[in-house]
Amino acid sequence: MAVILREQQILGAHTDVIIFEPMVITTFKWTHPGARPMGNNTPCSIQCPECHRLKTPSPQVTTDRNKIRLQCKKCSWGDEYSIPTDFQWCKSKGQSAKDVGDRGAWLFKTEKIVSKSGQDNNSGSNMLS
Ligand SMILES: [Zn+2]
Repeated sequence: MAVILREQQILGAHTDVIIFEPMVITTFKWTHPGARPMGNNTPCSIQCPECHRLKTPSPQVTTDRNKIRLQCKKCSWGDEYSIPTDFQWCKSKGQSAKDVGDRGAWLFKTEKIVSKSGQDNNSGSNMLS
């Protein structure tokens, strides 16, 4: 799934992708340093909330690979964004989380649904390869 989604940044810019399986729900979230910092939807990526200029917030790398800072180029406004709770990087062969580039990258989270009988099904674990 990660290989398929890697080429689908236009889809990811508009919506999360959610796969429902009988016992597992997997949510994929697109992330881009400038457009959707760490997968967070924020109007701050296109307009500074302080000086209200357009396209002045710029992504800055932090020492934590799971955080990114948006900093306005024209005023002192800045804010940090972290990966949403329980999400982790989708990694496909030969790609690391730092290889975000212009196409962005994807995060995912899996939620297991425990049936009333207490049985657990791991059928979703193979989707990420
Ligand atoms: Zn500003």
